[in-house]
Amino acid sequence: MIEDKVVIITGASSGIGEATAKLLASKGAKVVLGARREQELKQLVDDIQGDGGQAVYQVMDATSPSDNADIVELAKETFGGVDVIFLNAGIMPNSPLSALKTDEWNQTVDVNIKGVLNGVAAVLPTFVGQKSGHVITTSSVAGLKSYPGGAVYGGTKWFVRDFMEVLRMESAQEGTNIRTATIYPAAINTELLDAITHEDTSEEAAELYDQYGISADRIANVVAFAVDQPDDTNVNEFTVGPTTQPW
Ligand code: NDP
Repeated sequence: MIEDKVVIITGASSGIGEATAKLLASKGAKVVLGARREQELKQLVDDIQGDGGQAVYQVMDATSPSDNADIVELAKETFGGVDVIFLNAGIMPNSPLSALKTDEWNQTVDVNIKGVLNGVAAVLPTFVGQKSGHVITTSSVAGLKSYPGGAVYGGTKWFVRDFMEVLRMESAQEGTNIRTATIYPAAINTELLDAITHEDTSEEAAELYDQYGISADRIANVVAFAVDQPDDTNVNEFTVGPTTQPW
């Protein structure tokens, strides 16, 4: 059931997070939205409320443990608890390793890996205490296969796969009844490519997305499907891409 579930979404100010917030809210979820850009979050909350949905936002940086703790607190204060956390914030400033964009490597690790760790650390005591909860993450097809130009990004997404699988197993061993779902999107038309500063990589990615990109709504549908399953059922891993995708 989606209705009345309290769902925290990080990376909600655009793309996959935004589409998921709208869809879940339209199905009766109470959504708690986090990202750094306040104007986009505010607009999204206004749109959802205008359509009769329930939403609040908090400006947060996924790399900050205290910001993650604060958004969990906001969910509890506003809606009385938290049922689902969709750890979706991420960046993909791809480039060849020889370009030595080490600041971007570090930022990618900070957002894509530490952001997930911070989010899980913030919510896990609540989920363990209530013996229920759902952790959903956005990995990538780059978390299943290797792509030149994506060594660091891919590594962060491989990390997410391992981390989520162990979370699933430990939750089963410990009897905490926590559900997990990891999503592996292919090319989704969002703002993700805007962060690529390496010119050739940027052009190649734009061409690939022109050919194979699909709407963020497709990922929102999958998140909704996972949330909608019975509380004792884990639908765990989804790859999502167009039928034309040969890579
Ligand atoms: P967008 O760039 O549209 O969205 C990324 C979101 O992450 C934004 O809301 C952005 O908000 C947020 N974000 C970035 N850095 C931070 C930070 N430090 N703290 C908090 N929020 C942050 O791209 P997508 O919707 O495509 O990306 C969502 C997820 O999907 C990412 O994890 C991405 O890796 C993954 N993915 C995307 C694919 C694609 O083809 N688009 C394919 C596979 C996976 P703000 O800037 O306001 O903070």
